[in-house]
Amino acid sequence: MKSQTELANHTQPALPPIRQVEGREWWLWGFAVAVTLVLTFAILSLTFPGSHLYTDRVYALNLREWVRGLTALVLLFDIYTIYQHFQLQRVRRQLAERDRLFQLISENAADMIAVIDREGRRIYNSPAYQKVLGYSQDELNTTSPLEQIHPDDRARVQGAAEKARITGCGERLEYRILHKDGSWRVLESTASVICSADGKTEGLVVVNRDITERKRAEEALAHNAFHDGLTNLANRTLLLDRLGRALVISRRHVDFRFALLFIDIDGFKVVNDSLGHPAGDALLIQIARRLTACLRRADTVSRPQQSEDDQASFGDNTLARPGGDEFVVLAEELRDPSDAIRVAERIREKLATPFDVDGHEIVVTASIGIAFSSNTSTEAQGVLRDAEIAMYRAKNTGKARCEVFDNAMHAGALKRLQLETDLRKGVERREFRVYYQPIVSLSDGKIVGFEALSRWQRPEGMVMPNDFIPVANETGIILSINQQMLPEACQQLRAWQQLFPSDPPLSLSVNISPKQFAQADLPSQISQLLEQGGMDPHCVDLEITETIAMADAERSAAMLSQLKALGVGLDIDDFGTGYSSLSRLQGFRVDTLKIDRAFVSRMDSDPETHEIVRIIVMLAHNLGLKVVAEGVETQAQLDMLVHIGCERAQGYLFSKPADHQTIGKLLAASQTGIIPGVRANSASTSG
Ligand code: C2E
Ligand code: MG
Ligand code: MG
Repeated sequence: MKSQTELANHTQPALPPIRQVEGREWWLWGFAVAVTLVLTFAILSLTFPGSHLYTDRVYALNLREWVRGLTALVLLFDIYTIYQHFQLQRVRRQLAERDRLFQLISENAADMIAVIDREGRRIYNSPAYQKVLGYSQDELNTTSPLEQIHPDDRARVQGAAEKARITGCGERLEYRILHKDGSWRVLESTASVICSADGKTEGLVVVNRDITERKRAEEALAHNAFHDGLTNLANRTLLLDRLGRALVISRRHVDFRFALLFIDIDGFKVVNDSLGHPAGDALLIQIARRLTACLRRADTVSRPQQSEDDQASFGDNTLARPGGDEFVVLAEELRDPSDAIRVAERIREKLATPFDVDGHEIVVTASIGIAFSSNTSTEAQGVLRDAEIAMYRAKNTGKARCEVFDNAMHAGALKRLQLETDLRKGVERREFRVYYQPIVSLSDGKIVGFEALSRWQRPEGMVMPNDFIPVANETGIILSINQQMLPEACQQLRAWQQLFPSDPPLSLSVNISPKQFAQADLPSQISQLLEQGGMDPHCVDLEITETIAMADAERSAAMLSQLKALGVGLDIDDFGTGYSSLSRLQGFRVDTLKIDRAFVSRMDSDPETHEIVRIIVMLAHNLGLKVVAEGVETQAQLDMLVHIGCERAQGYLFSKPADHQTIGKLLAASQTGIIPGVRANSASTSG
């Protein structure tokens, strides 16, 4: 086979091409025959009989010499020719062997090998073509190599072949080719040039490998890197990438406007907690489907009386799930900001129809925050953050709403963010202090315990709890703050218990934040802290606000009884500010009610409030609970509280929360006599 031989020649340039060998052989034998004939003829003519010259003896002797010489020459030349013939035979055998080897390799190779001539015609296709692409040799021979190549790739393939022919060196190329079954396969090809002896390009050897599966795997990997595994929507990375591109376009074209809609499913946690995570996942998949359907380009925005053109002018949307129960829509090429609001409304409408998850009917609402390109950050992360801030605003102002991000929100969010950073630094630098506010027994005016209250001692000044506790609680930093404060407070209390012994010993009330109360391992955390601080659990009261306790009554009851089992006392803090009734507290194993300051402060000026406090105290006693009045500031309030039988009080009248040194002095003073605020009252009680 000519082409194979050429390829073999190409791959082993040490051997001459077969044509050259054949040419040399022709030349050799032709020359040998010609020389032999000439010499034979010369001998014959010299020895022609009847010549008169035969009679000349000297001539005859010379002639014999000539003939002998010429004969020897003919013999030598023929020997040389035979020798050359054997040499060429050897080369020919080697070539045949190489040819056979090439055939063996090419016919068994998984790669498709094609030899293309100078005009671009296929002159050889290895059998792998049939195995990989399904075409028979005849089909390949009768079609042009470009015919099966994907139309979009043809120019590239042709260009590469042309370049290889000109430069003599081929490069790696990827292109799509049509399989006999109609599917497209991806081939990776490398072309090598076949050169003639004089260096001219005679054709190309192209080795093609089917990389369809590899490509598919690569594409799947790339897809996974940019898509959410559960819903197959764009993930955060892809969203940020598209958002980044939208920002670049909006910078270049003032008319280009986009909006980012941050959608958070309200109360999704309840679905997860009550029906389990698989049900939560199923709901997310259904939500994703509805959102996709709702954002499909053709019906993206329902604009009444709009023309076809109008509709087409609204751009594409990217729907992403950056995580959890959050979905984000990047609505591009907005004509008007109201378009985005319409999308949001449309989304909320679509979600309003109940979902069916494993036979459970689930009603879903969403809080949506919108950030417009005209009024948001210049960075993708920033835009996402702004939309999220607006979403939180929607959530905090009643859920199932839509809010548009504005600069005031940005300023608020920045402040909050700064506070969060500062809080973390504050924890690192141990800037949190414990202040103690005495709790006074109204029967004898003596200090019976303290409420531990945190203070943030910043270099710029003292920060009060109301300015940092809410953020510390939301971010969970409160846990680190308490971990720093509690051991110190326990240690301090033990020292005071030793210095000022009493029966029962001085106690410590500690505030439990919602975040802490939500932690399943709170009881073990508390017991560990008490153990570390060497504290008797009976000397510690945990304060839980009424609102937290009532949020999930069933769970609270279980948690409170676990805490109770540790031996600690349980107080309901800020009682009266929530919407609970005393009877609802019955199921909880609490010991004390702390009546909120709001009631105490009004009781001396408002008879109705006075009556409420009186009833609370009475009902609490009926339930076997003790009562502490918070925020007692005046003697009149104190007198009234004593009169209605309240056991304990806490307030500025006795002492503001103070550091351990101040409180130490106060304790020392109260040992020798009744503290000033209670003296008169105590007299009246005893009297
Ligand atoms: P709370 O637990 O109800 O604490 C009582 C608050 O009332 C304290 O405010 C105290 O200074 C204030 N107070 C006491 N007597 C009077 C009074 O006669 N008049 C007035 N106007 N106020 C009085 P503070 O220390 O600013 O704490 C505010 C809230 O911050 C606390 O309310 C508590 O809920 C929270 N908090 C403080 N420290 C911590 C803490 O370490 N952990 C947790 N989770 N919360 C804390
Ligand atoms: Mg408290
Ligand atoms: Mg309170």
